[in-house]
Amino acid sequence: MEFLKDGVTTSAGDLAQQAQLPSLAIVVPCYNEEEVLEDTTGELLHTLDRLQHGGQISAASKLYFVDDGSRDATWPMLEKLAAENPRIVAVALSRNRGHQNALYAGLAQTSEDMVVSIDADLQDGPENIAAMIAAYRQGSEVVYGVREQRDSDTWFKRVTAEGYYRVMQALGVDLVFNHADFRLMSRRAVDTLLQYPETNLFLRGMVRELGFTATTVCYTRRARLAGESKYPLRRMLSLAWKGVTAFSIAPLRAITLLGLISGGLALGLIAWVLFVKMFSGSVVPGWASIMVPVLFIGSVQLLCLGVIGEYLGKIYEEVKRRPRFHVRDVVGAEPALDQGPE
Ligand code: UDP
Ligand code: MG
Repeated sequence: MEFLKDGVTTSAGDLAQQAQLPSLAIVVPCYNEEEVLEDTTGELLHTLDRLQHGGQISAASKLYFVDDGSRDATWPMLEKLAAENPRIVAVALSRNRGHQNALYAGLAQTSEDMVVSIDADLQDGPENIAAMIAAYRQGSEVVYGVREQRDSDTWFKRVTAEGYYRVMQALGVDLVFNHADFRLMSRRAVDTLLQYPETNLFLRGMVRELGFTATTVCYTRRARLAGESKYPLRRMLSLAWKGVTAFSIAPLRAITLLGLISGGLALGLIAWVLFVKMFSGSVVPGWASIMVPVLFIGSVQLLCLGVIGEYLGKIYEEVKRRPRFHVRDVVGAEPALDQGPE
């Protein structure tokens, strides 16, 4: 017996087999990506086809593009793609909310069994998704894409990234080395992640918190297809700091330690001053010996206040519990769901 499904004739056996296959959602956040969008869509649709024909995913698999308030032609292009192709869902946010929020918005739209998040510039090759699915089918609920070498990134980006992972490790934050946001998650992992109420998202850290069975898949990072990085230094620093403050209070402890050390030094200094006064009859001379420690300790105190202020600011943002984003438009699916903490 034969059935007509999605315009393709399929046998009953095929359909039964299809029903057991997991469906896949690929979520792509896009910010001013008009230059790469066409190639990216072509390659991702091709990836879905290949995986489906290879018997790894069901026909109910989809691409989810999230327009993160782009100012170029990204949204009109996405709208058109989604209207023309039933396998594409386009979501528009009301304004630019940043990569992590855009990705989260995309995750919240999906209902498939497996969800892969990937950047629009395809620096993380979609050919690696097959290996991720294989790991999923062997029982992993989270599969991290790990960049084996990053020759395609600038020297500066490589060095800062390497340094950052080391600092995070020293702070006791459990991150997967060289993993950004290219990963596969099971439905359960995504649904669990969506319950996390924090406003300041640092997804690669939050996914580690989930604690489901996880594996890694290594790959070589490609160069950006076209256009330029949407992560200038300012945004990189902001994400890096978000990672520190959202996952570690070690900087606050370091302040206490600093206080103890400088207190110890001050005691030593007092003892020395008294010693000189009592046993040599003279006083320790000098304007400089007073001013240097005063200025130094003053600046250290200001720095410490700054660190405390950073945490206070983050707490302020969290307690407001504002929605992380607003969805302006959805094409190709029913508008859904969670926009952040209630
Ligand atoms: N992105 C986004 N919103 C932003 C900045 C970036 O959705 O405000 C997306 C961007 O379109 C891309 C991904 O985040 O899909 C990663 O950005 P990019 O490739 O520029 O970062 P890099 O690879 O240089 O770290
Ligand atoms: Mg990139």
